[in-house]
Amino acid sequence: MGYDYKKCTSEIREFAAKINGAQMFSVGESVMEKKIYCVKYGKGGRKILANGAHHGLEYITAAFLMRFLREYAASVEGGTEMFGYDTNALYEKVGLYVIPMVNPDGVDIAINGLDITNKYHRRLISLVGIHSFNRVWQANANGVDINHNYDAHWSVVERMPGPTKYSGPYAESEPETRAVTEFVRGEGFDMLVAFHSQGREIYYDFDGIAAERDRAAADRMSRASGYPVCVPAGSAAFGGCKDWFVKEFGGGGFTIEMGSGKNPLPEKMLDDIFEENSKILLSAMSELCFD
Ligand SMILES: [Zn+2]
Repeated sequence: MGYDYKKCTSEIREFAAKINGAQMFSVGESVMEKKIYCVKYGKGGRKILANGAHHGLEYITAAFLMRFLREYAASVEGGTEMFGYDTNALYEKVGLYVIPMVNPDGVDIAINGLDITNKYHRRLISLVGIHSFNRVWQANANGVDINHNYDAHWSVVERMPGPTKYSGPYAESEPETRAVTEFVRGEGFDMLVAFHSQGREIYYDFDGIAAERDRAAADRMSRASGYPVCVPAGSAAFGGCKDWFVKEFGGGGFTIEMGSGKNPLPEKMLDDIFEENSKILLSAMSELCFD
């Protein structure tokens, strides 16, 4: 059991069917031809994209984003505040887009292992052996780490496809990466927040080009959540979704490492970390209401 693609998709469908004004659509397909869904909720012209589960073992981030959508919509419809934020004001000013599961193949491999009918079965088994997928698998079904595949100082860390950190044959080689970048380029976003696990940290910069207002926004997210603001080091510092967004648009990109412990974080931990991460996202959305 786990928060796999099937569970996430059924929650997306239910949300879109039940919630007034919510829309769902696909932004592309994974290597194994699963649709990568996006949910849109909010009337405003300022746009924010929140995404999760770039990494297979980090499916708690997808579960978080869907629960956030449900509770945010309940707050909007009920006319109540959510953790002290005026959600009706946010709904009027901000278009919230959520891609809960950027890497559906990776999540399913991490949770359910490899099905013998999977056409990548033999190749993937040869990369990691037969038993360890649910402890190690972060990549997509090509063995490419999506969050090192973006065009932002793209370079080679690992030489071969595998469970983690292989950046692919070239930048944006993977369909999951292109689904995000083409959608973002076409839609135009003021802000992007990528949720990962774990570490209880907020990242905002890439290559020193983020503006002072991004630091200020990260500081406000930090005060709201108790998560410190960090500057990345080593191989975490390039090829990521946030890195690409900051490089391409000059700022407004954030990575959140939710929770603490060893991946995969147990889903029941979501009860403990829901509020702090909700406050981060509500704080990010509030930034778009300042001007
Ligand atoms: Zn991650």
